[in-house]
Amino acid sequence: MRDLLADTAERAARHLTSLPDRRVAPAPDAVRALAHLDEPFPDHSTDPSDVVATLDALVTPATIGIPGPRFFGFVAGGALPAALAANWLAGAWDQNTVYATVTPGVVKLEAVALRWLLEIFGLPSTCGAAFVTGATVANFSALAAARHVVLERAGWNVEADGLYGAPPITVVVGAEVHPSVTKSLGMLGLGRSRVVTIPVDDQGRMRPDRLPTLDGPAIVCTQVGNVNTGASDAVREICERVRDSGAWVHVDGAFGLWARAAPAHAHLVEGVQLADSWATDAHKWLNVPFDSGLAFVRDGEALRSAMAVAAEYLPPTGPVRNPGEYTPELSRRARGAEVWAALKQLGREGLADLVERNCRLATRFAEGLAAAGHEILNDVVLNQVLVSFGPPEVTNRVIADLQADGTCWCGGTVWQGRTAMRISVSCWMTDEADVDRSLAVMLRLAERHGGP
Ligand SMILES: *Cc1c(COP(=O)(O)O)cnc(C)c1O
Repeated sequence: MRDLLADTAERAARHLTSLPDRRVAPAPDAVRALAHLDEPFPDHSTDPSDVVATLDALVTPATIGIPGPRFFGFVAGGALPAALAANWLAGAWDQNTVYATVTPGVVKLEAVALRWLLEIFGLPSTCGAAFVTGATVANFSALAAARHVVLERAGWNVEADGLYGAPPITVVVGAEVHPSVTKSLGMLGLGRSRVVTIPVDDQGRMRPDRLPTLDGPAIVCTQVGNVNTGASDAVREICERVRDSGAWVHVDGAFGLWARAAPAHAHLVEGVQLADSWATDAHKWLNVPFDSGLAFVRDGEALRSAMAVAAEYLPPTGPVRNPGEYTPELSRRARGAEVWAALKQLGREGLADLVERNCRLATRFAEGLAAAGHEILNDVVLNQVLVSFGPPEVTNRVIADLQADGTCWCGGTVWQGRTAMRISVSCWMTDEADVDRSLAVMLRLAERHGGP
């Protein structure tokens, strides 16, 4: 075991240190070589060291450089050193992080991380929280608590009786709601399409003046950090407008909520603390390994009511928080260890610096592209940049060539009818030189394809 783990650590370190110089997208040959994995299920066993050697030989070259400094696709941070190391150690601990009495160490880490997170986001210390796989499941968990409360107020127990015959719930979303919220509404029986969709402004922000008059059970889904523009809904105004109706306000802040941690950007999400529930990711801006998301619910008992189960063979609820009483999963890994480690490594200053630096580098991209005559479609307020290189086919060709070139990686999007390349700066490792090196390739490819 010792030799195997040492050998694995050596291989992992070799991979990580190669990232700054390695191509970001895997080479086509490396992807083709994955066919060697298509063997029948073996009859005989294989030595563990050969298993790891096979993984490293075939899969390492076929990975995309998400943990490296020039991956600007989606919103994906790399793994901070302490977070990756905590992930390894937690893998060795192999703790089922459900009950405080059974796995006290990792439960403690989750509790401390939770206390720090509530302080970072300025949320009430009474919040219930779920450490889950990502913002999708965080949205699902928080909206399950919302469903519980708005129906309980109408005299209905949704966990016991389901939605058959229940009072209807009005669900309000903005026109640029993230598909993970829509999917969560579907999984909760609230309907992906059975929603009131209100218009957004030219940055994708929900227009509070277009909120309907709400009456009876209602949930309003807001967003901070639009996945295209980085813009945030006016959560304060939305909360104030619907307060008298008793509607539940949820915030999808998968990456945007982290603006709260950065003094120069906190004003963008001012007012989020007035909502009833929040979803965010740790594997995006906090730079912990996948998969790690967080749900917070002001009324912690509501989340517990939606998620807790009891059985004779399971330990009873005690005075210490049992993480598994707040999550859809029963068995779950110790992802709080990585969140704790990342926060411990960064501290308040390091976290603020990470967010500010990424935002500064996004602005550097936008300025460099605009100076060369390319159109920036969004107000670059956070870490997201949308750039058009001209007609859709030109922009798409630049994106395809950029991905094939390997210097960096960006994806495409169609936003408010415009085809654009999306640049998302989210990794702790990215610096000015990475931006300039990537910009140079973008500008060269854009010129080759005829723009601007
Ligand atoms: C990324 C994202 C999600 C989904 O998060 P996952 O971690 O992929 O589940 C939800 N909402 C927004 C705004 C996002 O950016």
